Amino acid sequence: MLIRGSSERETGEAMGEATVSLVGSTGSIGTQAAEVVGCEPDRFRVVALAAQRSVDVLAAQAQRFRPGLVAIGDPALAAELAARVPAGTEVMAGPEGLAAAAAAAEVVVNGVVGFAGLPVTLAALEAGRRLALANKESLIAAAPVVQRARRTPGARIVPVDSEHCAIHQCLAAAGGGTPPAAAAVARLLVTASGGPFRGRTPAELASVSVEDALSHPTWRMGPKITVDSSTLMNKGLEVIEAHELFGVGYDRIEVVVHPQSVVHSMVELVDGATIAQLSLPDMRLAIGYAMGWPERITTAFGAIDWGSPMALTFEPPDRAVFPCLDLAYGAGRRGGAAPAWLNAANEVAVAAFLAGRLAWPGIAQVVEETLAACTDGPMGSVGDVLEADRLARRSAEAAVARRKEAA
Ligand code: MG
Repeated sequence: MLIRGSSERETGEAMGEATVSLVGSTGSIGTQAAEVVGCEPDRFRVVALAAQRSVDVLAAQAQRFRPGLVAIGDPALAAELAARVPAGTEVMAGPEGLAAAAAAAEVVVNGVVGFAGLPVTLAALEAGRRLALANKESLIAAAPVVQRARRTPGARIVPVDSEHCAIHQCLAAAGGGTPPAAAAVARLLVTASGGPFRGRTPAELASVSVEDALSHPTWRMGPKITVDSSTLMNKGLEVIEAHELFGVGYDRIEVVVHPQSVVHSMVELVDGATIAQLSLPDMRLAIGYAMGWPERITTAFGAIDWGSPMALTFEPPDRAVFPCLDLAYGAGRRGGAAPAWLNAANEVAVAAFLAGRLAWPGIAQVVEETLAACTDGPMGSVGDVLEADRLARRSAEAAVARRKEAA
């Protein structure tokens, strides 16, 4: 039976099945991406899975999705994994394994945590894949190298980070489906929940615990990014990410605190119109958008209840209490190796905080001291980026040790 006028369209433009690779499949982003696949079984077929260490979850995912390739970052776990995946599944290990998984599908979800996600970003782009990018650190720390890889024919980044995913949607809406001319964009307005410590004073923040920092008011995320939210470093990294993704100068990227996390970011146009993207705070929307782009997935992970009173509020960030935000702006404006140093110092400081080796205010202090020691070297190759990262980590570890001795 044909519905009038629809048969050609529906057969001609039916959404095809996309092959998907989930790298970092056992983490917060990866498991939520697996949920999206489970909700849209006709749209997505998982052909590769990869994770660093979580053999139990990875083996269970392999049993569920039956991909052709499963990779584990830690080679010591490869034999155990191989014994637990379906017969005929190829098992790879180490960075080569993760890179192979990143090149194995049309759509690659990079949900690896931190700088370790760089080889995945590069492998996906250099293979001309669509990269659903949740790993902002790779783009921030290695911008010159990633931007070059981005020019590979077929390569495209669709951001999973909710703010950038929102801006991606706002720009498409502003331009009638394609981004508007750069001259039409006045400002990118990146929203921030403000994290668990919004409204606190420096005295109150001197002795906050890891548990306090990990209780985020609106978002369900992994520990590293949740600590980054508590310092506003996450927002600072996102300002750099927005600059790299959309090519907008730092003077035209602003941060707005919006505690309800319903407006996920906005684009202000030169005629004064502001376009916003609103939805409940659920990463599966952003993951599904990036995986399905340019088509929308048809599963809604909750809808806003417009039948009940709701207030959306906006306020400027407290830059004095949360100095990480301006440290990130400074590193972004400085460019060169500075964003890589900022990122590495932050990763070291957050790990030290999570391990109980550094107080919460020490995170910003370690980042500031490390940036002050930043030596600007070349950043044109992966080797340059790795060297900058290594130097910055060494400098940051020394800064952590100095604070420990002083305590
Ligand atoms: Mg975000």
